[in-house]
Amino acid sequence: AKSAGGNRFELADAEADARAITRHGLTTALPTALERGEFFIEYQPLVHLGDGSVRGAEALVRWLHPQHGVLGPDRFIPLAEHTGLIVPLGRWVLEQSVRQAREWRELHGGAEAVGPLRINVNLSPCQLTHPGLVQDTVDILERTGIEPNALCLEVTESALIGADDDLLKPLRRLAEMGVDIALDDFGTGYSNLANLRRLPVSILKLDRSFTQSMQQFPADPVDLKIVEGIVSLAHSLDLAVTVEGVETGAQAEQLRMMGCDTAQGWYYARPGPPERLHELALVDATG
Ligand code: C2E
Ligand code: CA
Ligand code: CA
Ligand code: CA
Repeated sequence: AKSAGGNRFELADAEADARAITRHGLTTALPTALERGEFFIEYQPLVHLGDGSVRGAEALVRWLHPQHGVLGPDRFIPLAEHTGLIVPLGRWVLEQSVRQAREWRELHGGAEAVGPLRINVNLSPCQLTHPGLVQDTVDILERTGIEPNALCLEVTESALIGADDDLLKPLRRLAEMGVDIALDDFGTGYSNLANLRRLPVSILKLDRSFTQSMQQFPADPVDLKIVEGIVSLAHSLDLAVTVEGVETGAQAEQLRMMGCDTAQGWYYARPGPPERLHELALVDATG
């Protein structure tokens, strides 16, 4: 790019080129990465706001790249979606996570007070439109012997905005089987609230941006009202509310008082290896 003060633009171009090259490199490396077992999953606890107990975990995928080290999902999920690798990758994540949930159950003896730990798995919009979704999920649950109601699939609000019946059908089938469907990043997609009744969801996951705005003092009163409104609407529709991005005890307390049911965030734990989740849950169960 030729322009006044061109150096800066050239630098920007060079950076953009480097990013494009990396993107290209990562994209071509994705299929072999799956074959070579370079992906792994971290688990972040889901905590009941009422009593502070660990009720389950969200599975978050990472890539241990031989040259670049650990890459977060934001670096490669969009590429996997673009190339279609997200379907086998997502299936792998689902199977691993459900197996992990069964292992916790065996270790944990099924913590009578709160029931078995639940596992939340993210679903990309591409997986939703893939015809194998329901059968793959049924197969995985049967192979591992986990009841459908220990599994929650998280779908972003934006993926379901304006969704037609064809898109909702597989989710309905899964929900009828007892799998929970959560609407992820809720509050960012401007979906019609009345539309919620049409969706086979049982959990709203309130986007981190709401929790973040509570960090500020004074918290934005409009955001507080919005959260209160969402919680009361959700409860009136029989939906549970999970909040993400809880980083302080003050936020947790505020959200608990506002009636949110479950929380997730660095205040409780960062995503980590499965043993960590097990420890947290165990400490919790034994007091
Ligand atoms: P998400 O589903 O909204 O997941 C929550 C993200 O917030 C995670 O980022 C988590 O590490 C981060 N987080 C958790 N607590 C806190 C907190 O207290 N403060 C802050 N600032 N952040 C927090 P992560 O692991 O980088 O994942 C990013 C996104 O990648 C996820 O957003 C999800 O959309 C996607 N993703 C992750 N794993 C999978 C997967 O297996 N399949 C698909 N399709 N998408 C995935
Ligand atoms: Ca999620
Ligand atoms: Ca989310
Ligand atoms: Ca998010």
